[in-house]
Amino acid sequence: MGAKRESSSGSTPGGSGDADRRIGRRALIVGGAAAAVGTGVLARDELARLWWRLPGVERPRDDGAVDYAGARWVAASDANWRRADRPDDFSIDMVIVHVTQGSFDSAVRAFQDPGHKAAAHYIVGQDGRVTQMIRELDVAYHAGNRDYNERSVGIEHEGFVDRPQDFTAEMYAASARLTAGICARYGIPLDRKHILGHVEVPGTDHTDPGPHWDWDRYLKLVRRAATSLPTSGPSGGPSGGPSGGPSAGPSGSPSRSGV
Ligand SMILES: [Zn+2]
Repeated sequence: MGAKRESSSGSTPGGSGDADRRIGRRALIVGGAAAAVGTGVLARDELARLWWRLPGVERPRDDGAVDYAGARWVAASDANWRRADRPDDFSIDMVIVHVTQGSFDSAVRAFQDPGHKAAAHYIVGQDGRVTQMIRELDVAYHAGNRDYNERSVGIEHEGFVDRPQDFTAEMYAASARLTAGICARYGIPLDRKHILGHVEVPGTDHTDPGPHWDWDRYLKLVRRAATSLPTSGPSGGPSGGPSGGPSAGPSGSPSRSGV
């Protein structure tokens, strides 16, 4: 979502090496399955980060399941996203930052509305709460660009682009933890080429997150959050696969909401 703009002069973030990364992931799936034998109980957030190791057909799609352990699940209308099997059918190499141009609740309602024709995977509130409305394996209609939708996870932030006070410390911190986890899951580099604003999507007429969104602060927080993830943290480049050592779990089921 976000304010519309007059012109459309966004930059074009790149993205290459998808084929190589796909092969890397397949290898990881096999390796992870072998390593999974005999492991014990995993923390919820660890399980949440491991579901993508499973082949697509085995991935559980339980009602209310979330990809980020800190998120609460509220389902978006299925008119606002489409079923996919990422990262197997489409590589995920971007996180796209949005601002809601309205309250948290109004964003939730909009994404539940089949007539809205758009929704993001997550909404982060000014108080730091995180709601997931679309699973990361599915394609959410948030960027206004098919290719970018297929390759990205979209995060909405509660507020208005022209109100800097809306971007609270709690919101930045919660969003940074969420983004760090997403980047770790898919091996997305922690830089502005891969963590971008809706305004930077080619062809968009939206301006969010706007001039008051502090990218330096946000990237710093994301990198800091990445260092405190349970395992080794995100990979640094296009040749690196998702992080995670030999501690793969046997089930890989995503965590449940309501925890
Ligand atoms: Zn937007």
